[in-house]
Amino acid sequence: MTRKLSLTVEGKNVAVHVHRGDLPAATAFAGPVAVDCEAMGLALGRDRLCLVQISDGGDAVHLVQILKDTPAPNLAGVLADPRKLKILHFARFDMALLRHALGVMPAPVYCTKIASRLARTYTDRHGLKDVVKELLGRDVSKEQQSSDWGAEQLSDSQIAYAAADVVHLHALREKLNAMLEREGRMPLAQACFDFLPTRAELDVAGWPEVDIFAHS
Ligand code: MN
Repeated sequence: MTRKLSLTVEGKNVAVHVHRGDLPAATAFAGPVAVDCEAMGLALGRDRLCLVQISDGGDAVHLVQILKDTPAPNLAGVLADPRKLKILHFARFDMALLRHALGVMPAPVYCTKIASRLARTYTDRHGLKDVVKELLGRDVSKEQQSSDWGAEQLSDSQIAYAAADVVHLHALREKLNAMLEREGRMPLAQACFDFLPTRAELDVAGWPEVDIFAHS
């Protein structure tokens, strides 16, 4: 069952498709995909994954409502596809969440928060809202951030909020890449992205807040 909603982002019309349980088998994505997740809360293992938003930067955003204890093989296939780059903001958390809920570790990945930390050393504001505002001049609302994402029927404002969280990530990556290139930090960023699946796997396996590189 699919529900469709139209959304305007920066003058561009975006079609939001809401799917229950999994992506339709034939869903095609051109190039890298932006991914974001909504869960019941922030505690890994306690709070279940409720929604996965995914977009290739074109005029469609797909929202997949994750049903309790139900696999989503089509979505999992895209997340695990080694040829398909996944762009996320604070990828580490969503990756652990997806690994826990769907049994796949997303890879390869690009984290806009890590890119921002390495490129924008003049500030400590690396939240999505702040980075989007500075680099793209756009406002993202965080109004629906804390809401019941496990609800069977998501409200129009929840759907609009969830979709808005992925529509800026492609443009953000372009801007951050230019800064990383300029500052000579692209190889360092790439090495961090390459390590992310291991970092997220450690989170899932029971070393969440432990710095495994620390002396004590
Ligand atoms: Mn989000």
